[in-house]
Amino acid sequence: MKVLVINCGSSSLKYQLIDSETEEALAVGLCERIGIDGRLNHTPAKTGEKIVIEKAMPDHEVAISMVIEALIDPEHGVIGALDEIDAIGHRLVHGGEKFTESVIIDDDVIRGVEEVSPLAPLHNPANLIGVRACQAKLPGVPNVGVFDTAFHQTMEPVAYMYGLPYEYYEKYKVRRYGFHGTSHSFVSGRTMEILGLDPKNSKVIVCHLGNGASVSAIKNGKVVDTSMGMTPMEGLIMGTRCGDIDPTIVEYLAHCLDKSLEEIMTILNKESGVYGLSGGVSSDFRDLDAAAEKGNDKAKLATDVFAYRVAKYIGAYIASLNGVDAIAFTAGLGENNGVMRAQILSYFGYMGITVDSEKNGVRGEETIISTPDSKVKVVVVPTNEELAIARETVALVG
Ligand code: ADP
Repeated sequence: MKVLVINCGSSSLKYQLIDSETEEALAVGLCERIGIDGRLNHTPAKTGEKIVIEKAMPDHEVAISMVIEALIDPEHGVIGALDEIDAIGHRLVHGGEKFTESVIIDDDVIRGVEEVSPLAPLHNPANLIGVRACQAKLPGVPNVGVFDTAFHQTMEPVAYMYGLPYEYYEKYKVRRYGFHGTSHSFVSGRTMEILGLDPKNSKVIVCHLGNGASVSAIKNGKVVDTSMGMTPMEGLIMGTRCGDIDPTIVEYLAHCLDKSLEEIMTILNKESGVYGLSGGVSSDFRDLDAAAEKGNDKAKLATDVFAYRVAKYIGAYIASLNGVDAIAFTAGLGENNGVMRAQILSYFGYMGITVDSEKNGVRGEETIISTPDSKVKVVVVPTNEELAIARETVALVG
């Protein structure tokens, strides 16, 4: 089967066309600046050459039409005709408590996703725009929704409840949901396979360290706890998000800066994290590392605080799991930054975790980076959320 995987934001749309037999992406691309002007980046795997098409993209339906045109284009297309697309898999961010697994999208599902939109007002409506655009432009092709939150729905109340009046959970669904679920599922599954762990008797911690970052504790293939909360703000310090802070800071800063709650939340979302902590050097660790090397103390502090926070979560999750068999690193930073991995793992020397420094030099390749005598195995596992979405789609419509 050929599955079109769509990750739709409010002004952008990422796509991959995946052949489910070979599990290879035939083409990857990105529509940017939808509703502003419009640019399509399209890369067919067979040439690897990025094609850029600048053309007005007033809405997502036009964007989908351009994606289709690019996919069937005689020159840089990858399929002969539209009917070669067998199914569409959509990344949907928030499924609330309603969606515990992937679903074939129908009107009921759309209503369900709309109902939980107040929990993800920036993401869910944008995701649904992508779904509707595909329904309009590819009628008859089944659409499947794969939720970021679904894999975490196995958490028990002890992990997902906040210390707030219980009625806020009942009335407003205030609880921990967790995100990056597709990645945590994919990476924990691969970790068990690579290490030959028993899926029914294993304890794995996955560190998804990208611009957005989260850690999860997975026992016997099921999530026990995860660091992101009701929204993707909680937990680790991220590129521009603050992660865990004392909630009183929100009120205090609103007074100090004479800003509204919304303005403070924007600061916590977009101007904080390692970007804010470094005094605005960058949200990208490559820039931070370069600045730190040149003696920028704030850039060094930002990376140190990031590593410390990840270590704190790993420590907490070793308690949640009552032990750990394997720790996995994934996403941009987790896959590529050996110095950061070693810094995080240095906090666990006391429990006999040792890293093979040569193997830890790896970038973007599945590798066991712990030494053979390490008490806990440590692996690098590149994530592939698009492939995971394609697999879920095939499982439902194949
Ligand atoms: P996103 O959450 O936006 O998908 P990524 O998973 O791409 O983010 O992670 C972004 C982070 O990963 C950046 O801080 C960047 O420095 C780091 N990163 C990505 N690719 C590389 C690489 N090839 N080498 C070193 N660091 C990388």
